[in-house]
Amino acid sequence: MTQVTVVGAGLAGLACAVALADHGIAVTVVERNTRLGGRASSWREPVTGDVVDIGPHIFHSEYHNMLAFLARLGTKDLICWQPGKVLTVASKPRPTVLRHWPLPAPLSLMPSILQAPGLDAADYLSMAGVGWRGMRFGEEQVPELDRISALDFLRGHGVSERMIDWWWRFAAMVVTNVPLQRCSAASLMRIHAQLSGYRGLHFGFARVGLGELYTRQAVRAIERAGGRVLKGRGVAWLSGRERVDGVVLSDGSHIRAEQVVSALPPQDLDGVLPRAWRGRAPFDALPRVEPSPYVCCYLWFDRDIKAERFASNLFAPDRLNYDFYDLCQIRQGWRGRPTVIASNIIYSHRAHGLTDAEIVRRTVMELGEIAPRAARARLLHADVHRVPMAIPCPLVGFERMRPRARSPIPGLTLAGDWTRTHMPCTMEGAAKSGFMAAEVVLAERGLQANLAIDARLYDDFAGLARAAVPGRTLP
Ligand SMILES: Cc1cc2nc3c(=O)[nH]c(=O)nc-3n(C[C@H](O)[C@H](O)[C@H](O)COP(=O)(O)OP(=O)(O)OC[C@H]3O[C@@H](n4cnc5c(N)ncnc54)[C@H](O)[C@@H]3O)c2cc1C
Repeated sequence: MTQVTVVGAGLAGLACAVALADHGIAVTVVERNTRLGGRASSWREPVTGDVVDIGPHIFHSEYHNMLAFLARLGTKDLICWQPGKVLTVASKPRPTVLRHWPLPAPLSLMPSILQAPGLDAADYLSMAGVGWRGMRFGEEQVPELDRISALDFLRGHGVSERMIDWWWRFAAMVVTNVPLQRCSAASLMRIHAQLSGYRGLHFGFARVGLGELYTRQAVRAIERAGGRVLKGRGVAWLSGRERVDGVVLSDGSHIRAEQVVSALPPQDLDGVLPRAWRGRAPFDALPRVEPSPYVCCYLWFDRDIKAERFASNLFAPDRLNYDFYDLCQIRQGWRGRPTVIASNIIYSHRAHGLTDAEIVRRTVMELGEIAPRAARARLLHADVHRVPMAIPCPLVGFERMRPRARSPIPGLTLAGDWTRTHMPCTMEGAAKSGFMAAEVVLAERGLQANLAIDARLYDDFAGLARAAVPGRTLP
């Protein structure tokens, strides 16, 4: 009998399996696709031969679990960090460059934001209430804030409509992947508190394909401990009655296991649960989780269009793309090549009726708002990826649906970015969920391990304000 089976070889599944392998456990990982990495995967694009990701991803300097995972695999140095300058926002008539000033948190980005065109003193002052809530935000406030939309929350705290339209509609789309009016106030405040609470927080990007950061290295670690990774083998259902006793693959074969970790997204977990478990909490919530789809574009130009490494357009209802990345300023060995751009159409329903050619045409046009030379350059090749789910939408009520790692079915542990990690659904959340699941598996074997890293207390003034909150929990 296999001791532990992990279903799903995305970040969560592989982080969990490597952590268990490091404790001497022979793990069987079962992955439906022939490519590992799930929503953080990459492949060689056939026309150009370049490695592309499913879509561009950003890391940030508070991704402690993800960075610990990469450090374990020896690839932590393959992140290209962008300290100082956080992001260029394509505001009109001039761009707003968000960079840290030598000020204590949460004030370090303030001087940049004060230079944004179109806002006045009343707009900035209207942010005071939300700024204060952000400094004092912690996980104990999630249940209350999860009941209301981020838009109602901001209006309730007196934020001006101009500030909502300029900043918060943009922030909700790019950081939570849902429109402000649908977003849980808890989910938005958690990310706002993080981004403003840590001094000098900055972004980073993979110098190689996302999958190249961890998939091959994880397989090696799992195999070294006597485990195996089965690719292209989908799990049809989890087997067992009162306790899980293994998995049945789509070819009908049965892998018996003492413990099973599901590292599946919610809709896939729903599809493999035995009928008797489906109606039970927390599984009864799975059909209500809504995916946030993406369309990601890769554009190869014939010349250097002098783009920013990382820039984003502001919110507009009919806009397709937000974030643009110049891969020649990111990828190892690409400097000096004609520009290659990657971009994300977030919560992409508005693009779903468009052909790939129309998406590419509008993407080049929108890129032109950030890099005007794009309009004069010749596009040599384009690649469009339609991604059914980047993350589950953090809608009002989402936080209370997120299940804990320990499931009510004995022997079945849950992992995945969407589980209750006290973090947004991100690569960091996925890696943390994998570590949390490994802790549960080990605890059931009588082994105590502290693998998951909780968010730390905010810095400076933000940290002082947070520390003074009575009854506070994480961070
Ligand atoms: C385009 C895009 C942009 C993103 N941008 C960012 C970003 O900038 N920063 C960030 O931190 N995060 C970003 N994310 C989110 C991040 O990629 C995810 O949060 C993370 O990869 C989720 O990992 P996971 O292991 O929880 O799930 P997944 O990666 O979905 O892994 C689940 C695995 O289970 C497999 N599976 C499903 N069903 C079965 C079955 N029946 N049997 C066996 N295997 C099965 C799937 O094939 C998959 O490999 C982005 C995601 C996308 C798609």
